[in-house]
Amino acid sequence: MISIDLRSDTVTRPTQGMLDAMFSAQVGDDVFGDDPTVQALEAKTAALFGMEAALFCTSGTMTNQIAIKVHTQPGDEVICDKLSHIYLYEGGGTMANSQVSVKLLDGDRGRISAAQVAASFNNAEDIHQPLSRLVSLENTMNKGGGCYYQLSEIQAIREVCNDKGLQLHLDGARIFNALVETKEKPAQYGVLFDSISVCLSKGLGCPVGSLLIGSQAFIKQARRVRKRLGGGWRQAGYLAAAGIYALDHHVERLSEDHQRARAIGGMLSDRPEISEIFPIDTNIVIVRLANLSAVAYVQQLAEVGIRAVTFGPDLVRFVTHLDFTDAHLEQFGAQIKQMK
Ligand SMILES: *Cc1c(COP(=O)(O)O)cnc(C)c1O
Repeated sequence: MISIDLRSDTVTRPTQGMLDAMFSAQVGDDVFGDDPTVQALEAKTAALFGMEAALFCTSGTMTNQIAIKVHTQPGDEVICDKLSHIYLYEGGGTMANSQVSVKLLDGDRGRISAAQVAASFNNAEDIHQPLSRLVSLENTMNKGGGCYYQLSEIQAIREVCNDKGLQLHLDGARIFNALVETKEKPAQYGVLFDSISVCLSKGLGCPVGSLLIGSQAFIKQARRVRKRLGGGWRQAGYLAAAGIYALDHHVERLSEDHQRARAIGGMLSDRPEISEIFPIDTNIVIVRLANLSAVAYVQQLAEVGIRAVTFGPDLVRFVTHLDFTDAHLEQFGAQIKQMK
């Protein structure tokens, strides 16, 4: 049975080139601060975004959670969209780890506007209300189908944050997918945010790893929080080597994933069981089902060797990635045609 795995862009295996880089990595003990490959990855990523420092962590959940912890005090409030990963998919960590409340905005497919942020800010002089402290954006927006922000809107949000004394965090798990579409540079994001989280284990094809990027002072605090969470790691250079390789070799190719996602959209466009396909902006395809449940549809797909995930009672998500080639795309089309 063929298997076409479109559950997430996390399912990739390291390429031979990546494995070679990992096997030949120079390593040390990162908790003692002397793993040269971890240091090289952190320096490379910080420089790419034009920021001072970076911290290599196990996951995007960890980088987001550390950022929220460093930016806030218990009782503060984080402003984000209601579809945000930090709210929906981090095990309640935002609330549990930092003891903050979230103000959930209703954005456009998960993208909030400067006007919404300005309107939701609590007056800091009013002791009744939680102190608004942090705004968190997600780009690309997973639950919104991989859509991305206009840079001008982020600039406007930055101005509101400056006005109101709010910090601005970016959950950029898939920021490179946005950047290859817009042709913007990472440094254009670095100047706008107080902290940025990027994932290496999604479209970039690493087995594990995320980076948190910010100022020297911010990363110093973040390093302590990472340790407290049990995230200090030792010869992490083997994994950092994969990250360096991915930044050098796997960024530009993301546009191929986007083309294949659009091709999937085309192949699904005349299927009777599908009532709606969300706009396909990057590597995520979300479909709404006409008169069958997402669970049933995922099961039917599995029977023809295609793996996808439910994304709501009547929504199913497909994500393209490094290990989904043109040959897989062709097979996908053929298998879909076989479905009753
Ligand atoms: C995947 C993802 C993360 C981090 O997930 P981990 O599995 O913890 O690495 C964070 N934000 C978004 C939007 C994601 O898609």
